[in-house]
Amino acid sequence: MRKNATLLAGLGHYTCPQSGGLVPPVQSSVTSVIDGSEGALGYARSGNSSVLLAESLLNTLENGQGCAFFNAGASAAWAVLSTLTPGDGVILEADCYYEFRTIISRYCQRQGIALTLVDLCNLEAVGQATRQGHTNLIWAELPTNPLWKIADIAALAKVAHRVGARLVVDATVATPLWLNALTLGADVVLHSATKYLNGHGDLTAGALVTARPDAWWQEIIAYRTASGSVLPAMEAWLLLRGMRTLALRVERASENALKIARWLAQQPGVSGVHYPGLEQNPHFARAEAQFSGGFGAMLSFQLSAGAKAAAAFCRRTRVFRHSTSLGSTESLIEHRRSTEGEGSRCPDDLLRLSVGIEDCADLLADLAQALDATVNA
Ligand SMILES: *Cc1c(COP(=O)(O)O)cnc(C)c1O
Repeated sequence: MRKNATLLAGLGHYTCPQSGGLVPPVQSSVTSVIDGSEGALGYARSGNSSVLLAESLLNTLENGQGCAFFNAGASAAWAVLSTLTPGDGVILEADCYYEFRTIISRYCQRQGIALTLVDLCNLEAVGQATRQGHTNLIWAELPTNPLWKIADIAALAKVAHRVGARLVVDATVATPLWLNALTLGADVVLHSATKYLNGHGDLTAGALVTARPDAWWQEIIAYRTASGSVLPAMEAWLLLRGMRTLALRVERASENALKIARWLAQQPGVSGVHYPGLEQNPHFARAEAQFSGGFGAMLSFQLSAGAKAAAAFCRRTRVFRHSTSLGSTESLIEHRRSTEGEGSRCPDDLLRLSVGIEDCADLLADLAQALDATVNA
């Protein structure tokens, strides 16, 4: 089997059946001729040829048995939620991406589904929250956002499977290159492909990869067709262009992040650094055991000078852009509490960095001058 970087660089050795081209065309037709031939696509609400190619690549990267791309990470999440029925139960990582916490909470409330927020690193708490016949999903995020905590996927899968529940892992920040949650026992992996998979901040997309092409998975595929939430042909084509450089991008971004985390940990004005790749981080051992090749490009740090200084810090950086989101080529900084708004569980002195692929010396110098100005303000 070819290595991931090789697979991605050449889109799995793609050759266009019509032209012999090495790059797929944008096949935007809504419908195709019914001539009984294999590979005819039918109606575009259920897929398009660029989506099929992207699905086959991500399925290989994740060791999956089926992959489906959606027009956003949120639609992929909605597809999973659509399989639940009133009376079902969901356990959700408490420190998860705040918008998913909101979306999932509202959905469960309306549908009469019992939702429990749990720190999934605390297996005892997970065990207590899980009930035979009442828990249908455990929804994990690895690493969590914005504290980048690392749960033990194999242990969670065991707890889930003991009561007949499925384990969903949102691996957006881990990327399919650093973490393979299905191999560790998860039932389905979710990616916001808006982030690293596309990697250029110019489209929204989401994906699910399953460990089994069972009836539950077929329900998810049927939901995608029924809701019209498949990734459209143009976006799928653009996504493929982004995916070709995924390995290069995440390697560089992860290297930069590790250097920045180590540097921040030595600054007197910084009271805490959250990055699972630091040896002193309480999640380092679990990260090392489950990740390969890097620890990710997301990190957070807290300022001794407090909340106001943290909010001001974002306005002082010149290379890091003051913006939300993650996984694009450029580095971003945000005062996370302000982004999350009401109901945020994030410490108010915390700054979140999405580290990009710039020259690391420029990133370090930028943080140094902003820190200097903050400490001397
Ligand atoms: C952005 C993000 C999502 C949501 O994905 P969209 O593509 O914006 O719908 C879900 N999970 C995580 C971890 C994210 O960062």
